[in-house]
Amino acid sequence: MIMSSLKGTPHAHSAADPAVTQKPAAEPLLSKPVLYKNQVLVLFYHNLQADPTDGSKPEALTASLFRDQMKNLKDGGYNVITMEQLVNFELNNKPVPANSVVITFDDGYESFYNVAYPILKEFGMTASVFIIGFSSDVFDPNALPHLSWDEMRELKENGMGIYNHTYNMHREVAINAKGTLQPALPNNIFLTNKKRVETAKEYDKRLISDLTFMEKRLDEELGESPFRLLAFPYGAYNDKAIKAADQVGFSLYFNIKSGFNVPGQRVINRINAGDAGFTGKQLMKILKPYNQPGLFGKSYVEAVEISVTGVYKKIWQGA
Ligand SMILES: [Zn+2]
Repeated sequence: MIMSSLKGTPHAHSAADPAVTQKPAAEPLLSKPVLYKNQVLVLFYHNLQADPTDGSKPEALTASLFRDQMKNLKDGGYNVITMEQLVNFELNNKPVPANSVVITFDDGYESFYNVAYPILKEFGMTASVFIIGFSSDVFDPNALPHLSWDEMRELKENGMGIYNHTYNMHREVAINAKGTLQPALPNNIFLTNKKRVETAKEYDKRLISDLTFMEKRLDEELGESPFRLLAFPYGAYNDKAIKAADQVGFSLYFNIKSGFNVPGQRVINRINAGDAGFTGKQLMKILKPYNQPGLFGKSYVEAVEISVTGVYKKIWQGA
Protein backbone atom coordinates (compact mmCIF):
# COMPACT_ATOMS: atom_id res chain seq x y z
CA MET A 1 0.00 0.00 0.00
CA ILE A 2 1.14 3.53 -0.64
CA MET A 3 0.53 4.68 2.95
CA SER A 4 2.67 1.99 4.53
CA SER A 5 5.49 2.53 2.06
CA LEU A 6 5.38 6.29 2.85
CA LYS A 7 5.65 5.55 6.56
CA GLY A 8 8.91 3.75 5.96
CA THR A 9 10.36 6.52 3.79
CA PRO A 10 12.92 8.78 5.47
CA HIS A 11 11.38 12.27 5.58
CA ALA A 12 12.63 15.56 6.94
CA HIS A 13 9.43 16.28 8.90
CA SER A 14 8.42 12.76 9.89
CA ALA A 15 10.50 12.71 13.07
CA ALA A 16 8.97 15.96 14.35
CA ASP A 17 5.35 15.16 13.52
CA PRO A 18 4.55 12.09 11.43
CA ALA A 19 0.85 13.08 11.35
CA VAL A 20 1.69 16.12 9.21
CA THR A 21 2.73 13.99 6.24
CA GLN A 22 -0.59 12.12 6.32
CA LYS A 23 -2.80 15.23 6.36
CA PRO A 24 -4.87 15.76 3.23
CA ALA A 25 -3.27 18.35 0.99
CA ALA A 26 -6.30 20.64 0.76
CA GLU A 27 -8.10 21.42 4.01
CA PRO A 28 -11.47 23.17 3.63
CA LEU A 29 -10.05 26.32 5.29
CA LEU A 30 -7.27 26.53 2.74
CA SER A 31 -9.48 26.12 -0.32
CA LYS A 32 -9.86 29.93 -0.44
CA PRO A 33 -6.63 31.92 -0.52
CA VAL A 34 -5.98 33.97 2.63
CA LEU A 35 -5.34 37.43 1.19
CA TYR A 36 -5.45 39.17 4.60
CA LYS A 37 -6.76 38.40 8.08
CA ASN A 38 -8.21 40.41 10.97
CA GLN A 39 -8.67 43.43 8.70
CA VAL A 40 -11.64 44.65 6.72
CA LEU A 41 -11.73 46.50 3.42
CA VAL A 42 -14.73 48.74 2.77
CA LEU A 43 -15.74 49.76 -0.77
CA PHE A 44 -17.88 52.75 -1.64
CA TYR A 45 -20.09 53.51 -4.63
CA HIS A 46 -22.42 56.34 -5.59
CA ASN A 47 -24.88 56.27 -8.51
CA LEU A 48 -25.25 53.27 -10.85
CA GLN A 49 -27.12 53.04 -14.14
CA ALA A 50 -28.64 50.38 -16.38
CA ASP A 51 -26.56 49.48 -19.44
CA PRO A 52 -27.28 52.00 -22.21
CA THR A 53 -29.12 50.44 -25.14
CA ASP A 54 -28.66 53.45 -27.46
CA GLY A 55 -24.87 53.30 -27.68
CA SER A 56 -24.42 56.37 -25.47
CA LYS A 57 -21.42 56.67 -23.14
CA PRO A 58 -22.42 55.73 -19.56
CA GLU A 59 -22.21 58.57 -17.02
CA ALA A 60 -22.19 56.23 -14.03
CA LEU A 61 -21.01 52.69 -13.30
CA THR A 62 -23.26 50.36 -15.31
CA ALA A 63 -25.16 47.27 -14.13
CA SER A 64 -22.93 44.93 -16.15
CA LEU A 65 -19.72 46.41 -14.72
CA PHE A 66 -21.10 46.27 -11.17
CA ARG A 67 -21.99 42.60 -11.78
CA ASP A 68 -18.48 42.06 -13.16
CA GLN A 69 -17.03 43.58 -9.98
CA MET A 70 -19.16 41.37 -7.71
CA LYS A 71 -18.20 38.28 -9.74
CA ASN A 72 -14.52 39.16 -9.42
CA LEU A 73 -14.90 39.67 -5.66
CA LYS A 74 -16.54 36.25 -5.34
CA ASP A 75 -14.11 34.43 -7.64
CA GLY A 76 -11.17 36.22 -6.03
CA GLY A 77 -12.01 34.68 -2.65
CA TYR A 78 -13.32 37.84 -0.98
CA ASN A 79 -16.03 37.48 1.68
CA VAL A 80 -18.68 40.18 1.68
CA ILE A 81 -19.70 40.65 5.33
CA THR A 82 -22.58 42.64 6.84
CA MET A 83 -22.39 46.06 8.45
CA GLU A 84 -23.27 44.40 11.80
CA GLN A 85 -20.15 42.21 11.46
CA LEU A 86 -18.00 45.28 10.80
CA VAL A 87 -19.46 47.11 13.84
CA ASN A 88 -18.86 44.08 16.07
CA PHE A 89 -15.35 43.69 14.68
CA GLU A 90 -14.55 47.34 15.43
CA LEU A 91 -16.32 47.75 18.78
CA ASN A 92 -16.26 44.27 20.31
CA ASN A 93 -13.22 42.70 18.65
CA LYS A 94 -15.43 39.94 17.19
CA PRO A 95 -13.56 37.95 14.52
CA VAL A 96 -14.37 38.32 10.83
CA PRO A 97 -13.55 35.87 8.02
CA ALA A 98 -10.31 36.28 6.08
CA ASN A 99 -10.61 38.56 3.02
CA SER A 100 -13.58 40.47 4.48
CA VAL A 101 -15.14 43.24 2.40
CA VAL A 102 -18.04 45.59 3.24
CA ILE A 103 -19.96 47.24 0.39
CA THR A 104 -21.37 50.75 0.88
CA PHE A 105 -23.24 53.28 -1.27
CA ASP A 106 -23.39 57.03 -0.57
CA ASP A 107 -26.16 59.58 -1.18
CA GLY A 108 -29.13 57.17 -1.36
CA TYR A 109 -29.76 57.17 -5.11
CA GLU A 110 -32.73 55.14 -6.31
CA SER A 111 -30.34 53.25 -8.62
CA PHE A 112 -29.31 51.27 -5.54
CA TYR A 113 -32.81 49.76 -5.50
CA ASN A 114 -33.18 49.39 -9.28
CA VAL A 115 -29.67 48.36 -10.33
CA ALA A 116 -27.43 47.29 -7.42
CA TYR A 117 -29.96 45.45 -5.25
CA PRO A 118 -30.98 42.77 -7.83
CA ILE A 119 -27.29 42.05 -8.59
CA LEU A 120 -26.37 41.86 -4.89
CA LYS A 121 -29.26 39.39 -4.40
CA GLU A 122 -27.96 37.31 -7.32
CA PHE A 123 -24.63 36.92 -5.50
CA GLY A 124 -26.15 36.58 -2.01
CA MET A 125 -24.34 39.74 -0.90
CA THR A 126 -25.42 42.62 1.34
CA ALA A 127 -24.59 46.32 1.19
CA SER A 128 -25.37 49.48 3.15
CA VAL A 129 -26.59 52.84 1.89
CA PHE A 130 -25.81 56.17 3.56
CA ILE A 131 -28.75 58.39 2.73
CA ILE A 132 -29.35 62.15 2.82
CA GLY A 133 -32.66 62.61 4.66
CA PHE A 134 -33.63 65.82 2.89
CA SER A 135 -33.18 64.23 -0.56
CA SER A 136 -35.55 61.37 0.25
CA ASP A 137 -38.08 63.57 2.11
CA VAL A 138 -38.29 66.42 -0.42
CA PHE A 139 -38.73 65.71 -4.12
CA ASP A 140 -36.43 67.67 -6.42
CA PRO A 141 -37.26 67.30 -10.15
CA ASN A 142 -33.74 68.47 -11.07
CA ALA A 143 -31.90 65.94 -8.92
CA LEU A 144 -31.14 62.29 -9.63
CA PRO A 145 -33.95 60.16 -8.15
CA HIS A 146 -33.40 59.18 -4.51
CA LEU A 147 -34.69 56.17 -2.58
CA SER A 148 -38.20 56.40 -1.17
CA TRP A 149 -38.86 55.29 2.41
CA ASP A 150 -40.96 52.40 1.04
CA GLU A 151 -38.01 51.17 -1.02
CA MET A 152 -35.73 51.54 2.00
CA ARG A 153 -38.11 49.50 4.18
CA GLU A 154 -38.02 46.71 1.59
CA LEU A 155 -34.22 46.91 1.35
CA LYS A 156 -33.84 46.76 5.13
CA GLU A 157 -36.22 43.79 5.40
CA ASN A 158 -33.99 42.01 2.89
CA GLY A 159 -30.74 42.48 4.76
CA MET A 160 -29.49 45.80 3.37
CA GLY A 161 -28.39 48.56 5.77
CA ILE A 162 -29.63 52.16 5.70
CA TYR A 163 -27.62 54.78 7.61
CA ASN A 164 -26.92 58.50 8.11
CA HIS A 165 -25.27 60.79 5.53
CA THR A 166 -26.71 63.87 7.35
CA TYR A 167 -30.22 65.26 6.97
CA ASN A 168 -29.25 68.40 5.09
CA MET A 169 -25.50 68.97 5.38
CA HIS A 170 -24.54 67.42 2.06
CA ARG A 171 -23.81 70.84 0.60
CA GLU A 172 -21.29 73.64 0.59
CA VAL A 173 -21.87 76.81 2.61
CA ALA A 174 -20.32 80.30 2.76
CA ILE A 175 -17.68 80.48 5.49
CA ASN A 176 -16.91 84.23 5.19
CA ALA A 177 -18.36 87.53 3.93
CA LYS A 178 -16.74 86.95 0.52
CA GLY A 179 -18.84 83.82 0.12
CA THR A 180 -16.03 81.23 0.01
CA LEU A 181 -17.75 77.84 -0.17
CA GLN A 182 -16.78 74.88 2.01
CA PRO A 183 -18.53 71.64 3.13
CA ALA A 184 -21.22 72.38 5.75
CA LEU A 185 -20.29 69.66 8.27
CA PRO A 186 -16.73 70.54 9.38
CA ASN A 187 -16.92 74.35 8.91
CA ASN A 188 -18.39 77.27 10.84
CA ILE A 189 -20.97 78.95 8.58
CA PHE A 190 -20.96 82.72 7.87
CA LEU A 191 -24.27 84.07 9.17
CA THR A 192 -25.24 86.76 6.65
CA ASN A 193 -27.91 88.39 8.85
CA LYS A 194 -25.53 88.63 11.83
CA LYS A 195 -22.54 89.53 9.64
CA ARG A 196 -20.32 87.03 11.47
CA VAL A 197 -19.22 83.40 11.55
CA GLU A 198 -21.25 81.13 13.84
CA THR A 199 -19.80 80.54 17.31
CA ALA A 200 -18.53 77.17 18.53
CA LYS A 201 -21.79 76.79 20.46
CA GLU A 202 -23.93 77.60 17.41
CA TYR A 203 -21.85 75.19 15.33
CA ASP A 204 -22.33 72.34 17.82
CA LYS A 205 -26.07 73.05 17.98
CA ARG A 206 -26.41 72.98 14.16
CA LEU A 207 -24.57 69.69 13.83
CA ILE A 208 -26.31 67.98 16.72
CA SER A 209 -29.78 69.08 15.59
CA ASP A 210 -29.22 67.95 11.97
CA LEU A 211 -27.74 64.58 12.93
CA THR A 212 -30.30 63.93 15.69
CA PHE A 213 -33.17 64.78 13.33
CA MET A 214 -31.75 62.39 10.71
CA GLU A 215 -31.49 59.58 13.28
CA LYS A 216 -35.10 60.32 14.31
CA ARG A 217 -36.25 60.08 10.66
CA LEU A 218 -34.41 56.75 10.23
CA ASP A 219 -35.92 55.38 13.47
CA GLU A 220 -39.48 56.42 12.71
CA GLU A 221 -39.42 55.27 9.07
CA LEU A 222 -37.34 52.09 9.35
CA GLY A 223 -37.45 51.12 13.03
CA GLU A 224 -34.69 51.59 15.57
CA SER A 225 -31.21 50.38 14.73
CA PRO A 226 -28.94 48.80 17.37
CA PHE A 227 -26.18 51.25 16.36
CA ARG A 228 -25.81 54.60 14.64
CA LEU A 229 -23.40 55.17 11.75
CA LEU A 230 -22.47 58.37 9.91
CA ALA A 231 -20.72 58.81 6.57
CA PHE A 232 -19.24 62.30 6.28
CA PRO A 233 -20.45 64.18 3.15
CA TYR A 234 -17.47 64.54 0.76
CA GLY A 235 -15.51 62.58 3.39
CA ALA A 236 -14.83 65.98 5.03
CA TYR A 237 -14.49 66.10 8.82
CA ASN A 238 -12.28 67.26 11.69
CA ASP A 239 -12.03 66.78 15.46
CA LYS A 240 -14.67 69.38 16.35
CA ALA A 241 -17.17 67.70 13.96
CA ILE A 242 -16.53 64.33 15.62
CA LYS A 243 -16.82 65.86 19.10
CA ALA A 244 -20.22 67.33 18.24
CA ALA A 245 -21.42 64.20 16.41
CA ASP A 246 -20.31 62.00 19.32
CA GLN A 247 -23.05 63.63 21.41
CA VAL A 248 -25.62 62.04 19.06
CA GLY A 249 -24.22 58.58 19.88
CA PHE A 250 -22.56 57.34 16.69
CA SER A 251 -20.62 54.08 16.89
CA LEU A 252 -18.57 54.53 13.73
CA TYR A 253 -17.81 57.19 11.13
CA PHE A 254 -16.98 56.61 7.46
CA ASN A 255 -14.54 58.62 5.36
CA ILE A 256 -13.45 58.27 1.73
CA LYS A 257 -9.77 57.57 2.27
CA SER A 258 -8.29 54.25 1.10
CA GLY A 259 -6.91 51.90 3.73
CA PHE A 260 -7.36 48.81 5.86
CA ASN A 261 -9.60 48.80 8.92
CA VAL A 262 -8.34 47.17 12.12
CA PRO A 263 -10.27 46.53 15.37
CA GLY A 264 -10.97 49.60 17.50
CA GLN A 265 -10.97 52.11 14.65
CA ARG A 266 -13.66 54.82 14.90
CA VAL A 267 -13.26 56.36 11.45
CA ILE A 268 -13.58 53.70 8.76
CA ASN A 269 -11.46 53.94 5.62
CA ARG A 270 -13.18 53.26 2.32
CA ILE A 271 -11.93 52.50 -1.18
CA ASN A 272 -13.67 54.07 -4.18
CA ALA A 273 -14.86 51.36 -6.59
CA GLY A 274 -17.76 53.29 -8.12
CA ASP A 275 -16.33 55.38 -10.93
CA ALA A 276 -17.91 55.02 -14.39
CA GLY A 277 -16.21 52.36 -16.49
CA PHE A 278 -14.53 50.66 -13.50
CA THR A 279 -14.25 46.92 -14.27
CA GLY A 280 -13.97 43.86 -12.06
CA LYS A 281 -10.39 43.41 -13.21
CA GLN A 282 -9.57 47.00 -12.20
CA LEU A 283 -11.18 46.38 -8.81
CA MET A 284 -8.94 43.34 -8.27
CA LYS A 285 -5.96 45.52 -9.22
CA ILE A 286 -6.68 48.23 -6.63
CA LEU A 287 -7.35 45.60 -3.93
CA LYS A 288 -4.14 43.72 -4.72
CA PRO A 289 -1.79 45.88 -2.60
CA TYR A 290 -3.84 44.80 0.44
CA ASN A 291 -3.16 41.11 -0.27
CA GLN A 292 -0.34 39.94 1.94
CA PRO A 293 -0.23 36.13 1.81
CA GLY A 294 2.02 34.75 4.52
CA LEU A 295 2.53 38.18 6.03
CA PHE A 296 -0.36 38.27 8.47
CA GLY A 297 1.85 37.71 11.49
CA LYS A 298 2.62 40.17 14.25
CA SER A 299 4.97 42.40 12.29
CA TYR A 300 2.43 42.89 9.52
CA VAL A 301 -0.39 43.86 11.89
CA GLU A 302 1.90 46.33 13.63
CA ALA A 303 2.85 47.91 10.32
CA VAL A 304 -0.81 48.37 9.41
CA GLU A 305 -1.60 49.84 12.81
CA ILE A 306 1.19 52.35 12.44
CA SER A 307 -0.01 53.41 9.01
CA VAL A 308 -3.59 53.73 10.25
CA THR A 309 -2.41 55.94 13.13
CA GLY A 310 -0.56 58.07 10.60
CA VAL A 311 -3.72 58.47 8.54
CA TYR A 312 -5.71 59.43 11.61
CA LYS A 313 -3.20 62.07 12.61
CA LYS A 314 -3.16 63.60 9.17
CA ILE A 315 -6.93 63.92 8.94
CA TRP A 316 -7.22 64.94 12.57
CA GLN A 317 -4.94 67.89 11.89
CA GLY A 318 -7.19 68.92 9.04
CA ALA A 319 -4.65 68.20 6.31
ZN1 LIG B 1 -22.21 61.87 -0.40
